[in-house]
Amino acid sequence: MSTDIRQTAAAMADALAAGETTSVELTRLHLDRIAAVDTDVHAFLHVDAEGALAQAAESDSRRARGELLSPLDGVPIAVKDVLTTTGLPTTCGSRILEGWVPPYDATVVARLKAAGLPILGKTNMDEFAMGSSTEHSAYGPTRNPWDLDRIPGGSGGGSAAAVAAFEAPLAIGTDTGGSIRQPGAVTGTVGVKPTYGGVSRYGLVALANSLDQAGPVTRTVLDAAMLHDVIGGHDPRDSTSIDQEWPSFTEAARRGATGDMTGVKVGVITELAGDGWQPGVMTRFTESVELLVEAGAEVVEVSCPSFVHAMAAYYLILPAEASSNLAKFDAMRYGLRVLPEGVDNPSAEEVMRASRDAGFGDEVKRRIILGTYALSSGYYDAYYGQAQKVRTLISRDFEAAFEQVDVLVSPTAPTTAFKLGEKLDDPIAMYLNDLATIPANLSGVPGISVPSGLADEDGLPAGFQILAPALADERVYRVGAALESLLAARWGGSLLDRAPALESADVTEGTHA
Ligand code: GLN
Repeated sequence: MSTDIRQTAAAMADALAAGETTSVELTRLHLDRIAAVDTDVHAFLHVDAEGALAQAAESDSRRARGELLSPLDGVPIAVKDVLTTTGLPTTCGSRILEGWVPPYDATVVARLKAAGLPILGKTNMDEFAMGSSTEHSAYGPTRNPWDLDRIPGGSGGGSAAAVAAFEAPLAIGTDTGGSIRQPGAVTGTVGVKPTYGGVSRYGLVALANSLDQAGPVTRTVLDAAMLHDVIGGHDPRDSTSIDQEWPSFTEAARRGATGDMTGVKVGVITELAGDGWQPGVMTRFTESVELLVEAGAEVVEVSCPSFVHAMAAYYLILPAEASSNLAKFDAMRYGLRVLPEGVDNPSAEEVMRASRDAGFGDEVKRRIILGTYALSSGYYDAYYGQAQKVRTLISRDFEAAFEQVDVLVSPTAPTTAFKLGEKLDDPIAMYLNDLATIPANLSGVPGISVPSGLADEDGLPAGFQILAPALADERVYRVGAALESLLAARWGGSLLDRAPALESADVTEGTHA
């Protein structure tokens, strides 16, 4: 069926090329699906039906003229609400930006448009990308399509849930400590954090500049690679963007899909397994490692001793950078402005205080306080300075490990999706979700999460993380695609076919049963 919205993005592109469907039809089916299920899932903060259909119509006429902009021309996409979009609201999941409509496109968004992908809308997220469950969104949580009482991961739970619920075939996420990979793991989707500097951060509202990276959220590794080819590459508007030619990630994924792992050395990270990891998650992880061995990979265990300090270092560096970044939301230039009650002629400081008090949620305030404390004179060396030293040690662990192996692997997240509300009042328990994903952000290396199967008695998905040296993103696609095809052979198909909350929904027609 050429217009089945359960297809991969690559298959949709093929169907468009074969004239079996049109971009308008595909876009309309996804908008119908959003209308049918998003009251339950709440993956979207803004849906741009009119804009998406207009972009789709343009794609169809380009196709008729034989003037395609990219292999994904005409395939619709959803974008996390932390990337600026001309004429479309960008709230970052925060009250402080409610109603703000940016006057410019993020480079990632500009590249999507230049490649012809209709933008369906903006996806929900933890406020300013702080969180692992999307419960810190000021606009209410997103729900996991596998079980609506559970979290979809965070901060990019909206993008992951939209893709898992077949509301969008592709989405963009951002990953500062795991916000693409961890939602991928708990929703059975693929998420990629590219090498730091591989995808432009221009127009990505900064959480922590030295850690943030935008990347693909998809249902397959090939789809992620195709999307990465569209959004990646040098951008003179981002001073940290890497100025080099990148290989075709699409080709890397296609090569990997043969499943041949001969000559690939895989390192299992000692510190990212064992006690505290959900047994079902570990079972799926070990099975995947065995599949790689059967396919010809050489597997060794590699110790990265400094990784145990990654969380502590991250929760000093991130709040430090975030407290500085969020200072610009001062109620003076744009966004929310609240006048203090009972004060005549309030001063700028009084307006700022009232606006920031009303505009920021608890988690954001917690991190601003932590960050300003860590940076204050007298404490700087003891906290921020120490954290930067740990960061160096983590990078050295990666360097030493990648002298021995081509890729490093671990489970992506320690548990499957937990219940909404379960960890909301316990910040440390929430932070622990990113134990395995944070080291990659601290040293800039690329990583992917590939669904590794259903991990517990509740039938919830788990993720398998593959990390490669900086600039070697092609390896995460090659090994990721290999693992995906080996696992598909074992399960007999795609994991998302087994998503319980979706089973009864007739997704071809876009109706929610
Ligand atoms: N969950 C992590 C945090 O709260 C990661 C967030 C992210 O990657 N944006 O900081």
